[in-house]
Amino acid sequence: MFDVDTDRTLVAAADLVNTTAGLRSATHSPDQLTTVAQLKEYLNQRDAEIRWPSSNADRAQLSSVVELRDKVREIWGAAPIETEAPVELLNQLLRGVGLKVSRSSDGGHRAEPVPASTDLADVMTASIATAIQHLVVRDETARMRTCKGESCDAIIIDLTRNRSRLFCDFGNCANRAHVRAYRARQAAHRKAPSPRQATATRPAHPAEADLATDPRLVKPSAAEKAAQIQEPTSQSATAAKEFRERMRDELMEKRNKKSGKKSKKGKKKK
Ligand SMILES: [Zn+2]
Repeated sequence: MFDVDTDRTLVAAADLVNTTAGLRSATHSPDQLTTVAQLKEYLNQRDAEIRWPSSNADRAQLSSVVELRDKVREIWGAAPIETEAPVELLNQLLRGVGLKVSRSSDGGHRAEPVPASTDLADVMTASIATAIQHLVVRDETARMRTCKGESCDAIIIDLTRNRSRLFCDFGNCANRAHVRAYRARQAAHRKAPSPRQATATRPAHPAEADLATDPRLVKPSAAEKAAQIQEPTSQSATAAKEFRERMRDELMEKRNKKSGKKSKKGKKKK
């Protein structure tokens, strides 16, 4: 969505926050950052390109990383960021972080954060704070979300083009929400309420009503699907549409030429 480094770091930041104890798709998950071994495990699961120095993970670094996690969690919880408090917190993390320009893998140049020291926690702080800063200055902090699943407080980073991500990857949050939305629609359909009954038939959970009417959870009709094809969202879909249009134009051109020459129609060979 953004540049690869920022995307990769935002995913790592979300994973870091999700090591906090809490509910993941209706299952309790304990704190997963209580030992140095767990910190190393978290680091080992990172993309190799992220280059966070796992070799200097020790007790002191662990407690600094946990502090970082708590601050990032607070910033994430405040998103979309509209007040000063989360920005102030972000500025605390950015204190001492420098900037340098270096060669990127595509041959161009890119700005890269320079951490306050080579300590693991400082390197992680510089990297994560810079990535979040990216979202803040581009007014994209609404991409820092909490899973919409029932009994789930996992956080997610939405890196989709059309900002469509609603659920985490921990369990079956998306599935359960679809089933719930479907049932809520069925129930609403069965008891089309008279104004007098309206209060009695309201779903017990206000969230169910939201989910039932959330357009992103309602399966698209054939007409909507057709409209989506006309309005491609992904790069490959755009390319495919252009290709189809070009083929159609070429075909039309050939036909026009043929009818212009008034040539006799032979059998078409395929
Ligand atoms: Zn979830």
